[in-house]
Amino acid sequence: MPVPLTFAVARGLAGPLALTPSVPPTPPSALTGWGHASALTGRVVDTPRMSDDFDLVVLGAGPAGEKGAAQAAYFGKRVAIVEREPVPGGAAVHTGTLPSKTLRETALFLSGYRQRDLYGVTVEIEPHLAVGRLIARKNAVRELETARILNNLDRHGIEQVRGEACFVEPHTVEVAGRGSRRRLATQVCLIATGSSPFRPAGIPHDDPDVHDSDAFLGIDRLPDSLTVLGGGVIGCEYASVFAALGVDVHLVDPRPRLLPFLDLEMGERLLDAMTAHGVSFHLNARAERVERLPGRGLVVGLTTGAELAADKLLVAAGRKGNTDGMGLEDIGAKVDERGYVVVDEHFATTVPGVFAAGDVIGFPALASTSMEQARVAVCRAFGFAYKQEVSSLLPFGVYTIPEVSCVGMSEEDATRRGTDVIVGRAFFRDNARGQIVGDRDGMVKLIFDRATRALVGCHCIGERASELVHVGQAVIALGGTVETFIELVFNFLTLSEAYKYAAYDALANFGPGPVPG
Ligand SMILES: Cc1cc2nc3c(=O)[nH]c(=O)nc-3n(C[C@H](O)[C@H](O)[C@H](O)COP(=O)(O)OP(=O)(O)OC[C@H]3O[C@@H](n4cnc5c(N)ncnc54)[C@H](O)[C@@H]3O)c2cc1C
Repeated sequence: MPVPLTFAVARGLAGPLALTPSVPPTPPSALTGWGHASALTGRVVDTPRMSDDFDLVVLGAGPAGEKGAAQAAYFGKRVAIVEREPVPGGAAVHTGTLPSKTLRETALFLSGYRQRDLYGVTVEIEPHLAVGRLIARKNAVRELETARILNNLDRHGIEQVRGEACFVEPHTVEVAGRGSRRRLATQVCLIATGSSPFRPAGIPHDDPDVHDSDAFLGIDRLPDSLTVLGGGVIGCEYASVFAALGVDVHLVDPRPRLLPFLDLEMGERLLDAMTAHGVSFHLNARAERVERLPGRGLVVGLTTGAELAADKLLVAAGRKGNTDGMGLEDIGAKVDERGYVVVDEHFATTVPGVFAAGDVIGFPALASTSMEQARVAVCRAFGFAYKQEVSSLLPFGVYTIPEVSCVGMSEEDATRRGTDVIVGRAFFRDNARGQIVGDRDGMVKLIFDRATRALVGCHCIGERASELVHVGQAVIALGGTVETFIELVFNFLTLSEAYKYAAYDALANFGPGPVPG
């Protein structure tokens, strides 16, 4: 099968495995629909229809779909990617990762949040102006990222097909769109259709002030008060962003602690910091009833007997797989009760040649892991001798205010596994850069195996935590020990330098004794 010209050009320009665009992005104004962004002109034109036989058909053009498609095309496979929305990007670009992080940065900027401690600044936010600016910034970032994706697909020679995809046979996908239907035959399928907010029963979802995490981004005014149902990552992130903007935020969660996958100490620090920054927590509590009452707004009755009245309600009660109407059961693919596709450890479904990756298979449902899963699925599907596993060392980033991030074992994990550990801590308030940026909450916590002195867990909270954690991740991956940090020279002044002092703290806790040679 001939390699499409755009693919050959892309390879020559970008070099092996460089999947970043090597041509200027398409101007945002040109992003009028799901089409073919010419690598040469940057113009969007309708994709010329080619033959309907492919090596790989990818369903869904979010992070998993994009990276899975690019991986196969890179190795010379003929690939089509089907997307039902006008533009690619999925939840990551349009309703999830990018918009929420852009809102966060904009909220920090508009509220003068980072400067408050330093200069005693109090900023009054004009609600209508603030939302307008938040949304404008979010849209600008979204358009840039969409342009990047269109260029990436284009330069890999991936055929972009717009429409709703469903299976008619295990290796035939039908796409319904633009008033027509098209059947694509393929050797391998990758299901990457993502997930949507789960809507629990008993909540008036049709009330204009009740939002799920998708609809929340469309609000046209900053509320005075907000109740968030669900203290998972999404609920916590939005709660802290809106509290930073001066909104009176109440967060309700049935569990006794915040984000139980975090190291207990870090979860408690986050809870304390968010409480100090204005979020009221109602843990061990469930919503029993939600109703609109005259003069009180949306009233939530909790199992604890408390009542919360607010202008707006954000329902952040988990997600469900986007598999409805896709004919998966008809082809013999297993789907669980939340709509998630059941896969094995190599992302193969119960149907030979049909793979699934990303949010549509459930936990951990992160853009970061979704992309890796899709790459691995494609390498496994075609037998490429490359990228056979997703790393077991997964970092987690929670973009609350303050930010939290972790990789490897928590102290509780170590106790559960019977690993004897030594802990070292360093605080940003004792770090020169931390003092300059005014971070009072920040900290790095390192967990070392007592027997081998190897780093086995790294936990960061505060400014740039989700960036900082990758230092720890690299050291764990390379088998580094407490001595690695003692020997390394860190730029001064940086927050990264906190690693060295956390290591010194751990060294003191190891106590005197032989250092393994
Ligand atoms: C508020 C929020 C914040 C988040 N923050 C982060 C974060 O900070 N870091 C992080 O790593 N992750 C974050 N995530 C998660 C991240 O967005 C997802 O993990 C990621 O988008 C999943 O990628 P995906 O490709 O599997 O699915 P998606 O991004 O959901 O893409 C699936 C695509 O498939 C399309 N599709 C669905 N059905 C069909 C069909 N039948 N035919 C054709 N097309 C179809 C959809 O339109 C969509 O474009 C966040 C999510 C939310 C909601």
